[in-house]
Amino acid sequence: MSGTLRIIWDYDGPIGQVNSSFPYNFDERKLLREIENVDTILDLAKKFSIPMTFACTGFSAEPGDYPYHIGDQLKKINSQGHEIASHSWRHEWFPFLTNEQIRLSLSRSKFALETCVGVQGAVKGFVIPFSRPMSWYARGALSLGDRAFGPWRKGASLGSLIKLIGEAGYKWTRVFYRPIWQELLSDRTQNRNYSKSWENYHVVTLIPSHYFGFDQIAKDYLLSAINHGGDLVISGHPAALSFGREESLENLVTFLELTASERDQGKLLVKTVSEGLFNLNE
Ligand SMILES: [Zn+2]
Repeated sequence: MSGTLRIIWDYDGPIGQVNSSFPYNFDERKLLREIENVDTILDLAKKFSIPMTFACTGFSAEPGDYPYHIGDQLKKINSQGHEIASHSWRHEWFPFLTNEQIRLSLSRSKFALETCVGVQGAVKGFVIPFSRPMSWYARGALSLGDRAFGPWRKGASLGSLIKLIGEAGYKWTRVFYRPIWQELLSDRTQNRNYSKSWENYHVVTLIPSHYFGFDQIAKDYLLSAINHGGDLVISGHPAALSFGREESLENLVTFLELTASERDQGKLLVKTVSEGLFNLNE
């Protein structure tokens, strides 16, 4: 059997970090460290010949000054064979947005990133900031953590948001949701109980994330995917390489060593998210 691995980075960029850090915990050095960590990830990806997917904020791709605008690095990511996806325009909390704000964040981030890398149509994926909403009313998923509800808010339920994502020209998005009965029964300390399979919804392929991190749990997932011929998606945050937890640099290095070794033995394929995905939609 051989499995498939895809790695997605939630690259918030300075604008995303400002919008997502616990208020008002701002520290300019953290912004610089995240950018440096992406360079480290690119070096490792090159060393092990591992393609990855980087979901980036559109604001970071707009013309302007470092470190808030990092077009040169985004071009480097693209030129080294990795996939660039959108992580919204400025890391908005989608359940709070008006429908028009959602459309603008989706379209402007795609346009800014594609203009930056110079390839129209290059941005095929959308990674929802904060992974919110986790509610999907039609599927019985209701997450109080979304903090905004109602059928008139298209950003408050995954079903309606995914339709807008598709209308903006995206082909895939990563989703986290689970029906309320699973929510009540599950262990809240684990991130392993969300929907885990690929599926198509309207024109968009829904991507699960099986785990955030590169520690022993991620390695067990990798070996299990190989044994079962599974499609594994592992996600991480470049900023977290410095935090010394599941997503630490040490864990990443040993995870990539294992990945390269299994791949070299013919047991594993490593792909960007878009690679080999769109036959699902045909
Ligand atoms: Zn993010």
